[in-house]
Amino acid sequence: MKLSRTRSQETILKLLHQLGREISAQELYIELRQANLALGLATIYRALEALKLSGTIQARLLGNGETLYSIAQQDRHHMTCLQCGTSIALREEECPVHALEAQLRQSAQFEIYYHTLEFFGLCSPCQQEKVSVGS
Ligand SMILES: [Zn+2]
Ligand SMILES: [Zn+2]
Repeated sequence: MKLSRTRSQETILKLLHQLGREISAQELYIELRQANLALGLATIYRALEALKLSGTIQARLLGNGETLYSIAQQDRHHMTCLQCGTSIALREEECPVHALEAQLRQSAQFEIYYHTLEFFGLCSPCQQEKVSVGS
């Protein structure tokens, strides 16, 4: 399948590469405006959806319903605090799913773009807060 990207997709992709971090569609909208590359929100959502389906970017849904987009990466995982929403990235070598993915690629005949793995709980400042509230 040949990939043909629209101009807005290219623009968004370039910005995501430059930023090198996760960003919401709203933030993306603001960043693009600041770079004098203003796109409508509907266009941004359409472009993000197309890029997601092509495996170029990945989306991560946060607990608050917000979706963050970034360039698709094989092994980027987070521990997310349910109380304050802080996301702490795991190191790449800490991913236990990597080997399984390689195996599935071969055996399941499924074109895997990326996988997700997330942990939820309380970060250490929030744990301490809980202790002091409880006492
Ligand atoms: Zn992984
Ligand atoms: Zn926290």
